[in-house]
Amino acid sequence: MALPILRTTEELRAQLRDWRCAGESVGLVPTMGALHEGHLSLVRLCRAATTRTCVTLFVNPKQFAPSEDLARYPRDEAADAALLEAEGADALYAPDVGDVYGPGFATRVVVDALGDDLEGAFRPGFFEGIATVVTKLLMKALPDAAFFGEKDYQQLVVIRRLVADLDIPVAIEAAPTVREADGLAAASRNAYLSPAERKRAPRLFRAITYVARTVGAGGDADRACADARQTLLDAGFTNVDYVAVRDAETLGPPAYPARPARVLAAARLGTTRLIDNVAVAPEPARDA
Ligand code: AMP
Repeated sequence: MALPILRTTEELRAQLRDWRCAGESVGLVPTMGALHEGHLSLVRLCRAATTRTCVTLFVNPKQFAPSEDLARYPRDEAADAALLEAEGADALYAPDVGDVYGPGFATRVVVDALGDDLEGAFRPGFFEGIATVVTKLLMKALPDAAFFGEKDYQQLVVIRRLVADLDIPVAIEAAPTVREADGLAAASRNAYLSPAERKRAPRLFRAITYVARTVGAGGDADRACADARQTLLDAGFTNVDYVAVRDAETLGPPAYPARPARVLAAARLGTTRLIDNVAVAPEPARDA
């Protein structure tokens, strides 16, 4: 059967009501489209966890600053729908802006501190836009579970926080980052990279992996981050916004190895901004 495409909150709720009446469990996979293997891994995880999978496709204007790429963000709904149908998704909610932000819309969801740090420091209003739209999507659908990628690690932490703070009865499930063969994290914005930039791009993953290994082996985090930053600049990255080691749950200062830690980074290659992150793990014992 062709993938149903739902355009309005009423259509979304009617579909979910039918599934609920039939005793099904429902998972939601929020996306901005231009789907790739990372998104499809979320669909697979969702299909394994719930009996119905609803994907959302909404390029959320509230999370783009005026200087950012809202107008040129890659869009191909027909291709996305074909991928989702092949993957066995059960519905696609693809509303227009008016269905999400109706006339007089005036509410903002702000996650203090967490949303102002790292990405938030370089993209003012970004997490407010995300927190607002994710809250709306969760409240529209009220799924049993919603699925997000670790690729956007700070986003995941912000969403877990708001769901706990607002008592939204939805389980938040995380999926590991899907990477290209050379280590570059799959991302819709990778399409912006020139062939020369694409060749350099995996350096970001290598740089944060170096930091994670160094910290995992007991090395100095600040020094490792400074080295990684310099390596990226030497490799032709135009700008390095941050390379940081943080507590994996609070994103506050790390207390590794007492608590899990994460290395997060953002850097620019030409006009394309890439973000990535990896877990700090203990160095495996080596044979003598
Ligand atoms: P986006 O369309 O970029 O807003 O992403 C939608 C969802 O897909 C978010 O939960 C992302 O974290 C997730 N995602 C994006 N890229 C990847 C990836 N490479 N691996 C796993 N999940 C991803």
